[in-house]
Amino acid sequence: MTRRSPNRLVLILGDQLTQSVAALRAADRKRDVVLLAEVQQEASYVRHHKKKIAFVLSAMRHFADELADDGWRVDYVKLNDQGNSGSIVVEVERALSRHGCGCVLVTKPGEWRLFDALEKLRERLNVDFNILEDDRFLCSGCEFAKWANGRKKLRMEHFYREMRRRTGLLMDEHGEPCGGRWNFDTENRKPPKKELVPASPKRFLTDETTQKVLQLVDVQFGDHFGELEPFWFAVTRKQAEAAFDHFVENSLEQFGDYQDAMLLGKPFLYHAVASLYLNVGLLDPLGMCRQVDDAYRMGHISVYAAEGFIRQIIGWREYVRGIYWLQMPDYVHLNFFEHQHPLPDFYWTAQTDMACIRACVEQTRDEAYAHHIQRLMITGNFAMLVGVDPKAVHEWYLAVYADAYEWVELPNTLGMSQFADGGLLGSKPYAAAGNYINRMSDYCSDCHYNVKEKSGPGACPFNYLYWDFLWRHRAKLAGNPRLAHAYRTLDRMDNRRKAEIPLDANRFIQGLRA
Ligand SMILES: Cc1cc2nc3c(=O)[nH]c(=O)nc-3n(C[C@H](O)[C@H](O)[C@H](O)COP(=O)(O)OP(=O)(O)OC[C@H]3O[C@@H](n4cnc5c(N)ncnc54)[C@H](O)[C@@H]3O)c2cc1C
Ligand code: SF4
Repeated sequence: MTRRSPNRLVLILGDQLTQSVAALRAADRKRDVVLLAEVQQEASYVRHHKKKIAFVLSAMRHFADELADDGWRVDYVKLNDQGNSGSIVVEVERALSRHGCGCVLVTKPGEWRLFDALEKLRERLNVDFNILEDDRFLCSGCEFAKWANGRKKLRMEHFYREMRRRTGLLMDEHGEPCGGRWNFDTENRKPPKKELVPASPKRFLTDETTQKVLQLVDVQFGDHFGELEPFWFAVTRKQAEAAFDHFVENSLEQFGDYQDAMLLGKPFLYHAVASLYLNVGLLDPLGMCRQVDDAYRMGHISVYAAEGFIRQIIGWREYVRGIYWLQMPDYVHLNFFEHQHPLPDFYWTAQTDMACIRACVEQTRDEAYAHHIQRLMITGNFAMLVGVDPKAVHEWYLAVYADAYEWVELPNTLGMSQFADGGLLGSKPYAAAGNYINRMSDYCSDCHYNVKEKSGPGACPFNYLYWDFLWRHRAKLAGNPRLAHAYRTLDRMDNRRKAEIPLDANRFIQGLRA
């Protein structure tokens, strides 16, 4: 008689909700057991936005139902189930003994913290423990390390061109980029017009599963940041795909033009609102890019719009993940400017006279969403200019957005927005004065401060904080050719202005401390 080999335990994490994830592809539907566990530790290692917790739990429950309907044996541990240890590692051990499995299959976690915990579990347990590469990403950690090896500068643009060649996206039959250029970034920076009427992202009604989750989150995480309702996110693959189709049909053509624009009361403008779905596996990055590439080839959208979108996914998204795995676990401790200031309270309360910060924090509280330029040039820019500790900034971004996972959030925050890695990721700090914010938004029209004033209590704080930042960090930044013009302008200022800048900045920063 042949002995039946033992079952395998297939661990599916909350951001691996697709049947094409490596561990499920390697599993056997008839013999293996799929474990999904809601654990307190994952929901609260930073105090995530209530909407994010509800989204992930509801998407997990829907995915478990989908697997069960497709004939998988699913072991689903709910947050309040008796005996739930609150830790993913312990839940794996408990499930192994429940099912008598001799082998664990898991796709590599996105975050270093969890990867490290599973590696330690693997060393401790006496079972086969297979951690498979997460091939939902187009560039593996090894491939990225190979690309990075020996390069003096890791610039996204070079990486992106390789990804275009490799995927064939927006490439013509001669191997040249469609439209004759690799990058149409300069076409993507139109200032907003008040009369723009963007289509809102597709919204979904809550079903019974989501309603139960909303009640649970309200009770267990009621003191976390953010508004739980209205809750309208997609929670299944089918819904997420419908949301993305809606974006391609209604917003993508304008997305490129107004990517950097910000308008009061229009939090989403022409953005995809796709990262939360993409990051948990409800959308597939290559599939989305092919859909956009097809829309361009069929003449439905311009090459500018298609390139602007595809660059974000196969360029920025893959690139920041590569940087994360190349640099962790030390990356999180970098603090190039040695900034130490605590995060101001108004990042949680929105109670500030600065209309731009107020708008972004209110929108973050209500929607668990802000688009890239709001994160980079408003909340990120301000934190860097006043000298907030980059770790505190990182923890805030990780907590407040529905799409936040450390592999993507950390390089964007620490590297791109705070320049805390000293220029590994970005070629210069994303610092800007009020003039930039005024050009790209209508926030200043609603502000207590005057964006045209350079100094004094009524002046826009960004105006003096920007120059004070450059002044304070002159020794570290003056050699950067991309800042040469800014330092020349600073040097040409008259002495009175030069004296006012640190006085205004100190008064303002002392006010924050008070
Ligand atoms: C300080 C800071 C923190 C950030 N934290 C996160 C985060 O936790 N999670 C996250 O997914 N993105 C993060 N980003 C990147 C970007 O802001 C979001 O991906 C984007 O705003 C999501 O909204 P959207 O889906 O409407 O994107 P769109 O503007 O419509 O862009 C389309 C897609 O491109 C991808 N993308 C665009 N820019 C980036 C980028 N810089 N890095 C990675 N992917 C990108 C996203 O998947 C996004 O869904 C952060 C950026 C900054 C400056
Ligand atoms: S005036 Fe300054 S602080 Fe006010 S909204 Fe404009 S940029 Fe922000």
